[in-house]
Amino acid sequence: MTRYVQSVSAPDDPYTGDPLLRSWLERHLGPAGHAAAKGRLADLAADVTGPLRAAHADAEAHPPALVRYDPWGARVDRVDTSAGWQAQRAAAARHAVVALPYLESARATWGASARVVQHALLHLYAPESATFSCPVAMADGAAALLSIPEVDAAVRDAWLPRLTATDPDTAIVSGQWMTESQGGSDLSRSSTIGRPAADGSWRLTGEKWFCSAADSAMAVALARPDGAGRGSRVLAPFLVPRYAADSPLAGATVAADAPAPGVTVHRLKDKLGTWALPTAEIGLRDAYALPLGDPAVPGLVRAMTLVVVTRVHNASAAASGMRRGLAYARAYAQARQVAGGRLAESPLHRATLGTLAVDAAGAFVLAGHAFALLGRVEVGGDPAAAAELRAVAPLAKLATGRLAVASASEYVEAFGGAGYVEDTGVPRLLRDAQVLPIWEGTTNVLALDVLRAVAREDAGAPLLHRLAAAVDLARPLSPALADTLATVTGELRDRLGEATADPAAVEVVAGARGLALRTAYALTAALLVEQAAWGDEQAEVAARLWARRRLRHEDIAADAHRHLELLC
Ligand SMILES: Cc1cc2nc3c(=O)[nH]c(=O)nc-3n(C[C@H](O)[C@H](O)[C@H](O)COP(=O)(O)OP(=O)(O)OC[C@H]3O[C@@H](n4cnc5c(N)ncnc54)[C@H](O)[C@@H]3O)c2cc1C
Repeated sequence: MTRYVQSVSAPDDPYTGDPLLRSWLERHLGPAGHAAAKGRLADLAADVTGPLRAAHADAEAHPPALVRYDPWGARVDRVDTSAGWQAQRAAAARHAVVALPYLESARATWGASARVVQHALLHLYAPESATFSCPVAMADGAAALLSIPEVDAAVRDAWLPRLTATDPDTAIVSGQWMTESQGGSDLSRSSTIGRPAADGSWRLTGEKWFCSAADSAMAVALARPDGAGRGSRVLAPFLVPRYAADSPLAGATVAADAPAPGVTVHRLKDKLGTWALPTAEIGLRDAYALPLGDPAVPGLVRAMTLVVVTRVHNASAAASGMRRGLAYARAYAQARQVAGGRLAESPLHRATLGTLAVDAAGAFVLAGHAFALLGRVEVGGDPAAAAELRAVAPLAKLATGRLAVASASEYVEAFGGAGYVEDTGVPRLLRDAQVLPIWEGTTNVLALDVLRAVAREDAGAPLLHRLAAAVDLARPLSPALADTLATVTGELRDRLGEATADPAAVEVVAGARGLALRTAYALTAALLVEQAAWGDEQAEVAARLWARRRLRHEDIAADAHRHLELLC
């Protein structure tokens, strides 16, 4: 008897096979703007389905290793990474995944919407990047921080062009060294101290507990200027060169790729997921550092420039992983036979996939909205966009992080037993999704951040305004959808008002996660309605089903089954 071997086909091209991505670009960029982006997007999609897919598998199979000593006992603290990881690094530079919003040519073509194009690039690149999307996010955050006027021009001119280079031979990425073992969420417990040197540079001493992309040429580190007092507000961001080549403290005889004096890599973390990404514990002893802004001025606000960028990247990574998981699960269902037919024809399995497609659509527009707002803040200095982004960045990060984990679990299950077997590549979907709600703020920590934004900065107002406008847009599409949105808008107006009146009340704090998720889900419905009102039929169906599932807690299985093709 011959042994049965399941055939599995690759999913569709992630750009041409994603109608919501294309119609969203058409709406935000206009036909000419979208046409100008098509070449870039098609090139990246071709790389993703070709060499980058193989590089992704290679990087996953060959995790990084820390080499502490050379053969003669000299400390080298070198992080060796795989060829696949290096291929991902080169592709990120070549396709301008970090650089695009900083390129003059891109800003001339798309203006503030260069961030919209970047979101599309990330949507294609991230899911099969072996989590090189993480150093991409941190490099973008560092570039945004270097771009603010408070940063010394000489520091900016020396480092920003390297972060935004599109030549893989010169492009660098960045780490960010914030978390310490005594506190990641609670930065007020940070104990790394910065001391000024005579030449305007600083020396940092302390221990950093989670340092991803530990092979990067630089990192943004948070430190407490000596004598600055307690709390988190006074923490200041510093640029720390990782290698001797960029540290004036290194002697002329030291190899350029030796660690910068005072920078020690203790060990790499043995993590649940993100296996290809080197995450280290790093010690600093009088390490050379350049201040990013005046350390005498409380610096946490400056550091938030970076954090907002990494949070919206996190949302984009979550949304893109959901979409790619769906594509893989659909391709498998086309090939797999169950109960005498193709799995793809089972109404029950179709309902499962259709429901996941609704979630993927919601996550996509929510992350995309955050990028669109970020672009408007950076290019036009748009105060309305800044006010909305204050709440949207944490909301998008927290909501998509949770959706990504739930979806990844379903995608693994959609492959049956094969989904649990390492060399199919499927288990990593779940492992890697789990970092999304943790890194750059856990769900609770972000929910509290939203509460602060609402209570202290009136960040609820632009959200309520958008929701109210969406009620009117929804009315001609679906009266039931408009009614749901109107009801939820009224409910949120009351709850956000209560939170503003007494943000420290036990009930308000205990309910912060629920309120944040409800707000994020309502905002997502509004964003789908906006896309639908522009004429996108897929978004219209997604908006109706999203609102029923996430706002009214209804079972949408029958409609998800019926509309599966349209939703994908
Ligand atoms: C794979 C990976 C890579 C990472 N890379 C980096 C990196 O490159 N750079 C970096 O700086 N950090 C990095 N981190 C660290 C990460 O940002 C922190 O772990 C995260 O912010 C949580 O901080 P913590 O570990 O101190 O957890 P804690 O803050 O101790 O959290 C424990 C629990 O307490 C909850 N909690 C915390 N505060 C509150 C509160 N006020 N109210 C209610 N609940 C609360 C949290 O939600 C969580 O459930 C990485 C983490 C991972 C897993």
